[in-house]
Amino acid sequence: MSATPTVAPPDSPEVRRYNRIRRWLGIGEFALGLALLLVLLITGWTNWLRDLAYRGAGQSYSLAVALYTVMLVLIGRALGLGMDFYSFRLEQRHQLSNQKLSGWVWDQIKEFLVGAILASLLVELLYFIIRQFPEHWWILAWLGFLVVAVLLAQLAPVVLFPIFYKFEPLQDEELKVRLVRLGERAGTRVRGVYKWHLSEKSKKANAALTGLGTTRRIILADTLLSDYSPDEIEAVLAHELGHQVHRHIPKGIVVQAAVTFVGFWAANWWLHYAVDRWHMFETLSDFADLPLIVLIFVMLSFILMPALNAFSRFNERQADRYAFENSSITSFISSMNKLADQNLAERTPSRWVEWWFYSHPSIGRRLAAAEGWAKANATD
Ligand SMILES: [Zn+2]
Repeated sequence: MSATPTVAPPDSPEVRRYNRIRRWLGIGEFALGLALLLVLLITGWTNWLRDLAYRGAGQSYSLAVALYTVMLVLIGRALGLGMDFYSFRLEQRHQLSNQKLSGWVWDQIKEFLVGAILASLLVELLYFIIRQFPEHWWILAWLGFLVVAVLLAQLAPVVLFPIFYKFEPLQDEELKVRLVRLGERAGTRVRGVYKWHLSEKSKKANAALTGLGTTRRIILADTLLSDYSPDEIEAVLAHELGHQVHRHIPKGIVVQAAVTFVGFWAANWWLHYAVDRWHMFETLSDFADLPLIVLIFVMLSFILMPALNAFSRFNERQADRYAFENSSITSFISSMNKLADQNLAERTPSRWVEWWFYSHPSIGRRLAAAEGWAKANATD
C-alpha cells in the first residue's frame, strides 16, 4: 500500500497567530533577561546588590554568594512574571490548558524555589573554584559543570520532573508487549516506560526520552495514551527508541560540553578584561561580576542557537527514520497529524523561523519525509 502523497494544508490564521505570539514571548523573555544583565553591569547596581547580600549575610562570603544569587533569580522571575502570565492566558484562550489560576501560581512558586536552589548551588560551586584556583578556575569550573550536567540528566526524571508532574509506570499490558518487541528488534533494552500525567495541566500531547543510565526512560503523556490508537502510540515509541539507539542524550551532553568549554574560556577572558583593564571589579572572585559570566553564556547560546537547533533537527530526523523502519508508516503519519492538530503546531512555518527557532523539523517536513520513505520502500 502506498501512502497518498499530500502537501501539508496551509496553517489556519489561528494556528499562525498562536505560534507567532509564542515566538514573540520567547524573544521578549530573552530580551528582558539580557536587559537585566546589562543594566546591572552598566549602572553598577550589581555592586549595590552585592553589598546588600554581604550585609544580609553578616559578611560571610559564601552566605552572601547564595543571597546574591537568590536576589538575582527573584528579580529575574519578577520581571518575567507578566509574560509568564500572558502565556498562561494564551494557552487558556486557545483551549489548550487544563490549569486553574491557583495551579499556575503554585507552579510559579515551585519554579522560583527550584531555580533559586539550583542556581545557588551552582554559583556557590563556581565562586568556590574561582577563589581556590584563580589561575585555572575556568577549566576546573568547566569540569565541575560537566559532572553537574551528567548528574542533572540522571536525576531530572526522578527528582526534578516529579516536582511538577505525576508519573507512574505504564500499566497497559498490550503496549508493554509491543514495546519489548520493538526493543528486541532494535537490540536495545527499554528500561522503563512511564505514564506522564500531563492532562492535569494541558490538553497537548507529548512524549520524550529522558534520563541517563539507570534512570533512562520513555515518558508518554496520558493525553497521548488516551486519544491515540495502539499503532500510533507504537510509532511514537519507536521514535523515542530511535533517540535511545542513536544515543542522542549522551551526544547532547558532549555538544553541551564543547559549548560550555568555549563559554568558560570566554568568561575568563572577559573577567580579566573587566578586572584588569576596566577596573569594574577588584578581583575575579567578587561575585558582583556574576551577571558578566551569565551574559557571556546567554550571548553564546544565542549565537549558537541556529547551529544547536540544526543539530537537534538532525537527531529528530534520525529518530523519525528509525520509526519509519520499525513501525507502521501510516500510523506515524496519522500520529503526526493528530499531534499537530492537538498542539496547534504550525505544519509549514516560514523557512527562517524553522531554521532559527525549531528544535524539531516542522510537521510538514516530517510528513513529507515519511511519505518519501514509504514511496521509496513500497513493496508492491
Ligand atoms: Zn524526538
